[in-house]
Amino acid sequence: MTHIEHSPDQLSHKIPVGISSCLLGDNVRYNGGHSHSDYCDKVLTKYFDYQKFCPEMAAGFGTPRPTLRLEGDPNSPRMTFSKNAEEDVSDVFMAASNKYIEKLSHLDGYILMKKSPSCGLERIKVYQENGHPHMQRSAGMFTKALRQRYPLLPMEEDGRLNDPMLRENFLLRVFTHHDFRQSLGEGARMKDLIAFHSRYKYMVMAHSQPIYRKLGRMLSGNDTRPFHALKDAYFETLMTTLSQPAKRKNHCNVLMHLVGYLKHAVDVSVRKDILDVVEQYRRGEVNLATPVTLLHHYIKHYGSEYINQQSYFIPYPSPLGIRNTV
Ligand code: SF4
Repeated sequence: MTHIEHSPDQLSHKIPVGISSCLLGDNVRYNGGHSHSDYCDKVLTKYFDYQKFCPEMAAGFGTPRPTLRLEGDPNSPRMTFSKNAEEDVSDVFMAASNKYIEKLSHLDGYILMKKSPSCGLERIKVYQENGHPHMQRSAGMFTKALRQRYPLLPMEEDGRLNDPMLRENFLLRVFTHHDFRQSLGEGARMKDLIAFHSRYKYMVMAHSQPIYRKLGRMLSGNDTRPFHALKDAYFETLMTTLSQPAKRKNHCNVLMHLVGYLKHAVDVSVRKDILDVVEQYRRGEVNLATPVTLLHHYIKHYGSEYINQQSYFIPYPSPLGIRNTV
């Protein structure tokens, strides 16, 4: 039986993640330059095996090139060169993008360049005949097609990774996506899904108590759907739920639950000290790393195997220091 590493701290391989080429320093932008991201190229690269792509270069537009923009119906925009609205390049652009997108089913995440009519995740202007943008904004054309093809793939813009909450949430989803696909690959059975859920219970609880109960019911044995349908429904519910960052009060609730596992193992004064730190976190005086690290220290020594394996403790590589910022 193949050994599967679950903890992000023990992964011996990098996770496959797509990225806009210009973020890695490739001179592929319209002006012949790049948009190098230090965080992607120097920090996340230790954990991500990047697959880079520039959809405008793939469409044969070359560099430098005239700027492009979106036009028309914001729900289904066309792509044109900014200075020549008559030249609709949507078909040639989408042909190259779709050909590439078909080959991405192995990815666990995608990092995109902001403000681009091709790669932007959101808020891209769609110009109207009067020369003004429509009030409704769009995603870039490549990103829109990517999302349609892989709706559960975690995606984020490089700029938004500067926001601690959005960064935390993106990394959580990428590592969860990867863990699920590793744990529930070909040949997986119900017992594997139950084992996965067992590890993610407190993670899900931190995001939503009702979904925590819903997923538990799905796996209770009363759901009559075939395994593959149940697995797909579980994954969709899980990834959708994790896409909303967990609230501070929900983290406190989970932390208090976890302290309960130390009831018979450590003195009441130690548990009170831990709960005091949880309260400090609730009041915003310390970050999430403080109560989690303290609690994990005791759980490692005195907790059961079940509680020690909770992904809640190490959802992404510890050296990234993500929980020091939220
Ligand atoms: S934003 Fe996208 S299309 Fe524009 S240069 Fe970067 S990779 Fe290419």
